[in-house]
Amino acid sequence: MAAEALSSARQSTLRTANLGLVLRTVCAAPEPLSRADVAASTGTTRATASRLADELLAAGLLDESERGAPTGPGRPGTPLVPGSSIAALGMQVDAGLLAARVVDLRGRVVGERVEDGDFVGSDPMTTLHRLRAVTTDLLAHLPDVRVVGAGLALPGIVDASAGLLLRAPNLGWSNLRPAELLHLPLTPTLGNEADLAARTVAESAPGRPGPHRDFLYLSGQIGVGGAAVLAGQVLSGTSGWAGEIGHVCVDPDGPACRCGSTGCLEQYAGRHALLSGAGLPLDAAPGELAARIERGDPAARGAVDTAARALGVALAGVINVLDIPTVVLGGHLGELADFLRPALQEHLRRRVLSAGWRPPTIDAAVALPAAGATGAALKVLGDVVADPARWLG
Ligand SMILES: [Zn+2]
Repeated sequence: MAAEALSSARQSTLRTANLGLVLRTVCAAPEPLSRADVAASTGTTRATASRLADELLAAGLLDESERGAPTGPGRPGTPLVPGSSIAALGMQVDAGLLAARVVDLRGRVVGERVEDGDFVGSDPMTTLHRLRAVTTDLLAHLPDVRVVGAGLALPGIVDASAGLLLRAPNLGWSNLRPAELLHLPLTPTLGNEADLAARTVAESAPGRPGPHRDFLYLSGQIGVGGAAVLAGQVLSGTSGWAGEIGHVCVDPDGPACRCGSTGCLEQYAGRHALLSGAGLPLDAAPGELAARIERGDPAARGAVDTAARALGVALAGVINVLDIPTVVLGGHLGELADFLRPALQEHLRRRVLSAGWRPPTIDAAVALPAAGATGAALKVLGDVVADPARWLG
């Protein structure tokens, strides 16, 4: 009997692993896959691949593509695509916006609400109640999807396992449990905004590799967040707090930062620093700054050059330590990438030891307001793709 129980347990483990393998294979493919393609890619028999696909289809984790056509006698060779009825909720609170976005397993935005605002030093209860109202309205107007989980992107350091926001300097929030103030039917997993936004570069859809897999991501918000990504995985550090490049000191004698230090990168390259350096109001759009540079405005040019110098100092340090010479700029830094790039590359050429062999490159992320919200949804869906057996039946 013991041998039979062991054999049954092994079968169950094998089935769970194979379900994950089939779903990951379909999700990673840029085009719909036939059952024969799935069998070939996963090293299983056609019959096994087909049976596993049927289980995933029944749970809504896979769909049959409408584009399929019969390929001969027997079962039509209808290609498989990730299921459109499975989705996740991503939310974001930043110093300048609130967002809620629902993304499906194909990576499509099913619905979203993004609201600009000034949440610097805001009252957590008021702000999170506003996010709850925005999210509740979004969920009430969704098409027929199964929302399997939620995530919340925050501009600070979190203890995700405890559901605790430890500190978000620009919000002025510390030691609070956002889920308790949100009171949503789905309890969100907390994450750092830049870590989650970097997922939108590493993955173009849940489980599908994006344009870069090894890169440093900078999230230009009111502050500057960051993440180092290697083989598509965010380097989280021992406690999940890695990547705080915005608080790397560029000049110890520089201006005071909301974190308590002085001369942090975000005091030169944060949105407020750039706009005030250019003589623009703090609620001006980065596009206005770009327009002024194009008109030859010296204050606007000076603010961007100051930001490029600070970015060059901070990023050269990170690249020298980590050997990740691809930089992807998001948020306002992405919008200003063309203006930052020449001076920034010059600073990196001078300061990165390996630059003569492989000069660092500077790319802009696809412009996406509240990329952290999308990343939070991608993280939830990534967990589904990694272990789909939990979502069957
Ligand atoms: Zn700081």
